[in-house]
Amino acid sequence: MAKKKVDAVLAWRDLELGMAITDPGSSAQLKTGDWRSQHPVVDHEKCIKCGLCWIYCPDMAYSPGKEGYYDWNGDYCKGCGICASECPKGVITMVMEEE
Ligand code: SF4
Ligand code: SF4
Repeated sequence: MAKKKVDAVLAWRDLELGMAITDPGSSAQLKTGDWRSQHPVVDHEKCIKCGLCWIYCPDMAYSPGKEGYYDWNGDYCKGCGICASECPKGVITMVMEEE
């Protein structure tokens, strides 16, 4: 990989287009799930409330909900399918987004 020498650390205003810099702790305000192509659907009849979907989701799109289930928040889900792969009961199905 070619290395690029820089003379100074750039201020955020001088960075090239395509880079995103935000303030610390801003991820809750940045809704990053609007470009996914599919989303998970949980069969709550078969869910054992183990919480592994919540633990494995890299985007914190699940959170503890009522009666031990985990609520899904589409504002942050990117549709990676990790939760469906890791669910020990196989009760999460990835469904294509409607156009
Ligand atoms: S599909 Fe990926 S981002 Fe969405 S809830 Fe599952 S693990 Fe999280
Ligand atoms: S990983 Fe599967 S079984 Fe466990 S809480 Fe999530 S949906 Fe339910």
